[in-house]
Amino acid sequence: MRAILTYHSIDSSGSPVSIAEDAFRAHVRFLASGRVRVVPLADITSPGAEEDAVALTFDDAFLNFADIAAPLLADSGLPATVFVVSDAVGGTNAWGGHEAPGIPTLPLMHWDDLSAIAVAGIEIGAHTRCHADLSSLSGSRLEDETAGCAERIAAVLGVRPARFAYPYGAVNDDVARVARDVFVDSCTTELRPLSDDEDRALLPRLDAFYFREPGQLEDWGSPAFRRRVWLRAQGRRVKALMAAGGKGR
Ligand SMILES: [Zn+2]
Repeated sequence: MRAILTYHSIDSSGSPVSIAEDAFRAHVRFLASGRVRVVPLADITSPGAEEDAVALTFDDAFLNFADIAAPLLADSGLPATVFVVSDAVGGTNAWGGHEAPGIPTLPLMHWDDLSAIAVAGIEIGAHTRCHADLSSLSGSRLEDETAGCAERIAAVLGVRPARFAYPYGAVNDDVARVARDVFVDSCTTELRPLSDDEDRALLPRLDAFYFREPGQLEDWGSPAFRRRVWLRAQGRRVKALMAAGGKGR
């Protein structure tokens, strides 16, 4: 099985964007064990990629990545990609000044932290300028949140990001077309492993939140693991349909 794992924050709140430090340490131990090969995100879709491989992604660039994840990944020699919200660097994840219910408001990395992890080999990816829902934007606003984010990161860190993650996984045909022009790979929140012939502007991922209990990630690739992914994806579809129905009323 080949797949991209999504992490956000490493903290003990139990929120949907959080994984506790102990659980994350257990993930790193498993990922460093060699049972499944951890590859850079850039390599996960290449035709020569091994049948069993995983790429690690961290959305939003929380400060706890620098404090907890970066040293653990470095010690184990594991590659990873961090997706940065360029206008929120050094701020918090209260996007646009609004706290999200059930999500802790936490500090994000500063440019110095991002520079340090980049030097240590962590790939810096883009995650828009303002954590915008891109499906609601078009024209220059859409351009600004995608290409504008990449330009800002390139201007400060000296490397233009080649990879991108859509905030909230929100993407439509226009958004994907723009992302395809600006980035080599763009990640969604579509919950499934990779198939052999993926559109690199619409890469699916597995949210690590669903594998936070002991032993769940260690089941990697087993029928039980695939079934958990499938059930979670079904559950999300039902929720999305109910939300869409609610909006229509
Ligand atoms: Zn995000």
